[in-house]
Amino acid sequence: MFGGTFDPVHIGHLVAAVNVRHALGLDRVLLVVANLPWQKTGRRPVTPAEDRFAVVRAAVEGVEGLEASRLEIDRGGVSYTVDTLRQLGEVYPGADLYLVVGSDLAGELGTWERIGEASPLATLVVVSRAGGHPQSAPRGWRVEPVSIPSLDISSTDLRERVAAGRPLDFLIPSPALRCIRERGLYAGS
Ligand code: ATP
Ligand code: MG
Repeated sequence: MFGGTFDPVHIGHLVAAVNVRHALGLDRVLLVVANLPWQKTGRRPVTPAEDRFAVVRAAVEGVEGLEASRLEIDRGGVSYTVDTLRQLGEVYPGADLYLVVGSDLAGELGTWERIGEASPLATLVVVSRAGGHPQSAPRGWRVEPVSIPSLDISSTDLRERVAAGRPLDFLIPSPALRCIRERGLYAGS
């Protein structure tokens, strides 16, 4: 499970997903689009979940082992990772589950809703992220670090680029960028 707001998805997410799958020999990596990201709503306008999902789906189309997941959207309400991991355990009985996060999040995992209940359910995968975040993972988790080429890129940067009239080309896969344009998202892209 690789969860995120993906507002919008970018090559940093995709390089992370592909390399985690390769490094750990996983069958598939699900990019789980948060319905209501509780840490982000209220702080800034978040693009509607269906639009974010459509862009992620376009981004992973035809990429082996990567899937866009609408589990949290279909569940509705606020998205908590522990609930999603439980649900994945039911959907894929007996599967070895991995929770993938960027190194910027590893240190704050302890603040997530009921996340302590999730540590027996999954192995935590911490993906290196540009910016020098301390990689200390919370206690109680089995942890697999995965290094990826450093891509100093975030959805926040991309939204700022659009606002400043700068191009998103090659920072987002072309089919996803086409989807953004078709839906009139991030006006200006
Ligand atoms: P925002 O700036 O809006 O927070 P973001 O780029 O951090 O956007 P998220 O949707 O918040 O994207 O992140 C989803 C997951 O992807 C998180 O675990 C995050 O750490 C990871 N991630 C995002 N960008 C990168 C990157 N460039 N390299 C590695 N991991 C990344
Ligand atoms: Mg983020």
